[in-house]
Amino acid sequence: MRYGVLAKAYEELESTSKRLEMTDILVKLIKQTPVEILDKVIFLTQGKLHPSWLGLPVIGIAEKSAIKAVSLATGINIKIIDEKVKEIGDLGSAFEKFSTKKRQKTLISTPITVKRVYLTLDEIAQASGPGSADFKIRKLAGLLADVNKLEGKWILRTVLGKLRFGIADQTIMDALAIAFTGDKSSKPIIERGYNIHPNLGEIAKTLAKEGLSAIENMKIELFTPVRMMLAQRLSSIKEILEKLGGKCACEFKYDGERIQAHKSGKKVELYSRNLENATSQYPDVCELITQLKANETIVEGECVAINPESGELRPFQELMHRRRKYEIDDAIEKYPVCLFLFDILKKGKTDLIDFPYTERRKILENIVRENDHLKLATAIISDNVTEIEAFFNTSIESGCEGIIAKSIKNDSVYQAGARGWLWIKLKESYQSKMVDSIDVVVVGAYWGRGKRARTYGALLCAILDEKEQKYKTICKVGSGFTDENLAGFIEKFEKNKMDIKPPKVISIIKPEPDIWFEPKFVMEVIGDELTLSPTHTAGFNSIRQNSGLAIRFPRFIRWREDKSPADITTESEVIDMYNQQLKQISQ
Ligand code: AMP
Repeated sequence: MRYGVLAKAYEELESTSKRLEMTDILVKLIKQTPVEILDKVIFLTQGKLHPSWLGLPVIGIAEKSAIKAVSLATGINIKIIDEKVKEIGDLGSAFEKFSTKKRQKTLISTPITVKRVYLTLDEIAQASGPGSADFKIRKLAGLLADVNKLEGKWILRTVLGKLRFGIADQTIMDALAIAFTGDKSSKPIIERGYNIHPNLGEIAKTLAKEGLSAIENMKIELFTPVRMMLAQRLSSIKEILEKLGGKCACEFKYDGERIQAHKSGKKVELYSRNLENATSQYPDVCELITQLKANETIVEGECVAINPESGELRPFQELMHRRRKYEIDDAIEKYPVCLFLFDILKKGKTDLIDFPYTERRKILENIVRENDHLKLATAIISDNVTEIEAFFNTSIESGCEGIIAKSIKNDSVYQAGARGWLWIKLKESYQSKMVDSIDVVVVGAYWGRGKRARTYGALLCAILDEKEQKYKTICKVGSGFTDENLAGFIEKFEKNKMDIKPPKVISIIKPEPDIWFEPKFVMEVIGDELTLSPTHTAGFNSIRQNSGLAIRFPRFIRWREDKSPADITTESEVIDMYNQQLKQISQ
């Protein structure tokens, strides 16, 4: 298949922000795509070459290098290209303008097929070491010399990570359901497959080749992460007990990084909350996992920084020192961790996700030999408010965030990828009426004044409308940042700047932010309370006509590098939190 087919679909995707229209465009594209390259088409459309959890090198080339490649391919002077990029704001569109001029053709030009583009981008991604920068430029230039203007535009946007239409996984699944089964009624089966096998390229290929029953029969596989189960929230122990049938398990809610560990013999891979491969950050944790008394297993826990002398839990931020590629031995020594295990998803050949909580916990307990760096999450089973209250307080005193109450009923399965009512979190209140902090994505910024004149003074933040896959604003955050945070803003957001409001962002705020951003960076915020607001679009018209919901006096808590924009707090959760807050006040 020619890459031009893909480029044309991308043009259409860019021209709409309506989820249904995007789905239709994708359905058409999927139906046109031969099975052998269906996975490649899906990955490219997601702006990647492989699922991120494989930990393989990602497509990526600095804009400067891409400009050099365009210059090599077109014979146009770098300076002129540079100026055009500054004028238009994007190299892809600039290429479109240039390519009417005569371009150098390679002697033997190969047709620009999807396969050729994919393989070339993969070669570019994998190149490393001395001479690789030059190699990448030459490879890209070779490709660009053979393309038409539209193809070039989208290849450049792909390598620069600027596919602005940002297709959500949910939309791709809708399209797969329609393309291969006629309508969306099969979506729950596809979604279940995706939850235990989050590789849409492979799901698409399996659907096309073997049909829906193959997806239905999918099992958990070692070294393919399972999408993680999430917790709902409530603000009192009484409500939690009522919701869970009068009796439940309660565990400390550790404040670290969620880790899903897969083990087969001596081989271990670790995956983070957003299914990135975290193996290289925690070689010490890998070593601990090899000691589990199960040859093949998948377990989950929270990895927390500790003080090795006292065993005290350290703040979440300390784990950031582990996010480095080099000198990891040094980081292991300076920032030791403890993994608190709380679940098991597979042991030997048996999938355990459909086993009830108490059985999973027993199996987990049987394979763990506790030591200073590997422990089971502290847990009790109780039906008593006072006892749980005391447990909650002990958890806070131990440096945890609160508790996670877990259903112990027969149906207390591990709900992969779902935020259900089988797990309910109760966090420390932060002197706030809010039931929980909120994870937002930054979509814009306002220049600061006075002390902050050279950086952004406030960030415009949004939550996720999960039905439409749009981001709706909920607050402008200017407080809670350290001087270091503030000083790093410009650099942090540089790559995400957009010349216009991203189509996925729904905002009516006035004045508009000085700069818009492609939604990427997630942060956790808390405020005094959730209030009605005519200026924010989160939950607009859902509580009151012409009003949305806003966070009053929002404060930054921390960046959540472990979450992607698809994982942030959703609009229905915010509405639910507002209602819970009202109930709490009236009690
Ligand atoms: P939140 O990120 O606030 O939605 O809280 C859910 C997160 O708490 C999970 O994703 C885990 O990373 C973390 N967590 C800490 N302790 C536990 C536990 N005992 N059980 C489940 N999750 C836990």
